Amino acid sequence: MRLYTIEIDKKEYVAVLNQRGQLVTMDSLGIDIRDMKELIRTYSQVKESIARGLREETGHALAMEDCHILAPIPVPDQDVICLGVNYKEHVDETADVVDFTDQAATVYFSKRVNRATPPEGEIPFYDFVDSLDYEVELGVILGHDAYRVSSEKASDHIFGYTIINDVSARNVQLRHQQWYLGKSLDGYTPMGPCIVTADELKKVDDLTIECFVNGEKRQSSNTSLMITSVQEAIAELSQGMTLRAGTILATGTPGGVGMGMNPPGFLKEGDRVCCRIEGIGELKNLVSKHRA
Ligand code: MG
Repeated sequence: MRLYTIEIDKKEYVAVLNQRGQLVTMDSLGIDIRDMKELIRTYSQVKESIARGLREETGHALAMEDCHILAPIPVPDQDVICLGVNYKEHVDETADVVDFTDQAATVYFSKRVNRATPPEGEIPFYDFVDSLDYEVELGVILGHDAYRVSSEKASDHIFGYTIINDVSARNVQLRHQQWYLGKSLDGYTPMGPCIVTADELKKVDDLTIECFVNGEKRQSSNTSLMITSVQEAIAELSQGMTLRAGTILATGTPGGVGMGMNPPGFLKEGDRVCCRIEGIGELKNLVSKHRA
């Protein structure tokens, strides 16, 4: 299933894409849930009802272009857990700035998301940022609490997948040593356009992953080239830390970021960024002057 969060008259609804490319709200299928986070927690109980509603076309279908689409999880319960330098080309391209070429262990850090930026939403350009960068990443959403799971069993805990742009202020990221602040500014987590459930997106370890700036292809890789796989990351993280249902992982970006270009190809006001992952879709955003 492809699940969306949409807004109608200032109210949030969770909707599912039907065979005709229209969005059907959970409400109209008789499923009473508040938001995507509640759907994730109750999915095993309502999954059949959603499927039946789609089959029998019982719900009220809305044209995609008439819907205001939000990030699938507009307000995550916890910080996003990120993997750093998780594609070899990205390790190599950033080695002059931060050298991770001999790093044996996976780099984990987190990213605060007060409100995820929706598809077509704006990435704010702050006046204290001189090196705004894009990072297309496969986002993984957990469906069940994970504690001490093996990498072989890790997939059983995955609810679905989305696209995340791990927007980064490089000057802030590098100045403070820890990456937290430079990646956590308001508006720096575009997410979407939807969550594709794990049962629908089978070959997550072999997906084309790309990012375009003003139509120019900057990043182009495949999720098979991740250094630490999604399953290995879930296994390692959960050895002593419970990953709760609804946890969002951002699994690292491939080569081609602005920081790695010569001269650097940082974002500027008016730039259009399009992150694309095979089987999920496109996440498009506009860089705009920050308005306080
Ligand atoms: Mg990243």
